[in-house]
Amino acid sequence: MIRIQSVSKNFGPLEVLHGVDLEVFRGEVVCVIGPSGSGKSTLLRCINHLEAPTAGVVWLGDESIGVRESRGQLVEIPPAELARQRTEIGMVFQSFNLFGHMTVLENIIEAPIQVMGTPRAEAETHARQLLEWVRLEGKESTYPRQLSGGQQQRAAIARALAMRPRVMLFDEPTSALDPETVGEVLSVMRRLASEGLTMIVVTHEIEFAREVADRVVFMDDGRIIEMGSAVQVLDDPREERTQRFLSRIL
Ligand code: ATP
Ligand code: MG
Repeated sequence: MIRIQSVSKNFGPLEVLHGVDLEVFRGEVVCVIGPSGSGKSTLLRCINHLEAPTAGVVWLGDESIGVRESRGQLVEIPPAELARQRTEIGMVFQSFNLFGHMTVLENIIEAPIQVMGTPRAEAETHARQLLEWVRLEGKESTYPRQLSGGQQQRAAIARALAMRPRVMLFDEPTSALDPETVGEVLSVMRRLASEGLTMIVVTHEIEFAREVADRVVFMDDGRIIEMGSAVQVLDDPREERTQRFLSRIL
């Protein structure tokens, strides 16, 4: 479903991704772990072209994200086309980036109405279903600042789901949360996984990865060092760097 093909990314002279290859299949949950600065966020941002890869291509199905080939060269596609492609890729960040001046309901219906042209009534009905699904029924008219971190993150998940994405990307969705609200967000993500949504999750929650991931990817220094089943990578890592990382955080 998603194929990351030889993706490299430079920031000026600094190459932070070195030709990463990764394929994620439909319905699969892939958890990405690795030390700070190893390129996990950059890799996720390359998938939906928030960062343009310096080299390589990301494919969603048979479409290349953000670029197309023209006379043997890759050229950026027009912003409207990229916006359409991005509707298929939901993203949830570490810092709940809800729009502060909009209510929870307005946050959720904004993109379906503006980007997809969904009629308002239909967008609202769907938003209410999603709010129920993330257990935020009754919070429609609440502003983000009036919610706990865990509630804001569940609203952010509902907002991403409102576009009916084919894949969801999560970048450390619980690492800015108070410990007591981490569980409620992980539980929503667990339910998404069990419903068969394709997910790529950058996380430090090793127990979550062990339980939910079909595959775990360990990154270090802009490369995939090791990948395999959760049991293989987390309990029986082959690579010394993976072992060292896990022994530090477990
Ligand atoms: P963390 O676990 O701390 O979130 P990460 O694995 O997500 O780390 P990235 O945020 O992808 O790591 O960063 C990888 C490298 O790229 C780091 O050295 C970082 O400083 C650098 N980097 C990321 N974004 C930029 C940018 N916009 N400009 C310059 N350098 C950047
Ligand atoms: Mg990061």
